[in-house]
Amino acid sequence: MIPPGETIGILGGGQLGRMLAMAAAQLGYRCHVYAPEADSIAAEVCAAFTCAGWDDAAALAAFAADCAVVTYEFENVPVSPLAALGHTPLLPGARALEVAQDRLSEKTFVSGLGGRPAPFAAVDDTAGLAEAIEAIGAPGILKTRRDGYDGKGQWRIMAPADAAGLDLPATPLIYEGFIDFRAEFSVILCRGADGDVRFWDTPENVHQGGILARSTVPGSTLVRDEVAEARTLARRVADALDYVGVLTLEFFATESGPVFNEMAPRVHNSGHWTIEGAITSQFENHVRAICGLPLGDTGLAARGVVMDNLIGDAAHDWPALLADPANHLHLYGKAAARPGRKMGHVTRLVLD
Ligand code: AMP
Repeated sequence: MIPPGETIGILGGGQLGRMLAMAAAQLGYRCHVYAPEADSIAAEVCAAFTCAGWDDAAALAAFAADCAVVTYEFENVPVSPLAALGHTPLLPGARALEVAQDRLSEKTFVSGLGGRPAPFAAVDDTAGLAEAIEAIGAPGILKTRRDGYDGKGQWRIMAPADAAGLDLPATPLIYEGFIDFRAEFSVILCRGADGDVRFWDTPENVHQGGILARSTVPGSTLVRDEVAEARTLARRVADALDYVGVLTLEFFATESGPVFNEMAPRVHNSGHWTIEGAITSQFENHVRAICGLPLGDTGLAARGVVMDNLIGDAAHDWPALLADPANHLHLYGKAAARPGRKMGHVTRLVLD
């Protein structure tokens, strides 16, 4: 057990790290952020900040020496340099990172546990893309295997002819069949070091342009009917990885049951509603799990919850959002409101 007063290391310096650090502070921990970018909005609320590259072994070792445990808020942290963390535990473990940072290994791993992703094929070049489209059909989506997020690194292919005009990047790709889904949802769980697993209520998620726009709890009946099967798979994934911390799996609700989309080995945007909407937030339970404390109650604190992301200029509406007493406003302190950038979120509870 790592008692309050100790230091938690966080790899990655964005809003997820910021909200993790705020939850850790509530429990009396100090946090140390490690990120390559100097303008870290997580570091602003932490006790210490190491600004260094992911491959800087000396900086990683010095960072680890200051921390009782290290976690991550960003799943694209390169895995091999993490050996420099030495004896300081990394939770969740490096295997979860390895699996989740490559869409091909993630889908293969989850299929091996009985999950059902969209039909997929690895693509390395134009000829490989033509073969994948031949085998899987169109429409489909071509995605980079690594480093994609919020719909970045994705190309929709409506018909085989669309592939001809594509200037493929020189990076491994994956082609997926297009899923005609009825709704999207995520399963968010926390697993303790003792194997205790708790699920939060499942949000139904609406994406716009590949970016999460809204999460609603409870979801529609379309989603609710598929939660049990999706949770069974998520628990299997967590157990297979001997996972410690918050894990998120995203699904498409379809006529023939839940189709696995992707997993995130970390706290997740579709779980931000848990800060006010659940007895224990995803951030607090992640801290509890990695520090070996008992997990908190994941039950709802209201009849329902709606969380809207504030993307780009939407954050400029903060005076009007604050004027509505029903809104819980969260701003991440990012300097520039670029289009598509997550600047904050607003949560409303359904109380009556
Ligand atoms: P991803 O980054 O893979 O989560 O994709 C972002 C969003 O694009 C998803 O939440 C869906 O709305 C959409 N999307 C991704 N893959 C597919 C697919 N195979 N079929 C239909 N929609 C998809």
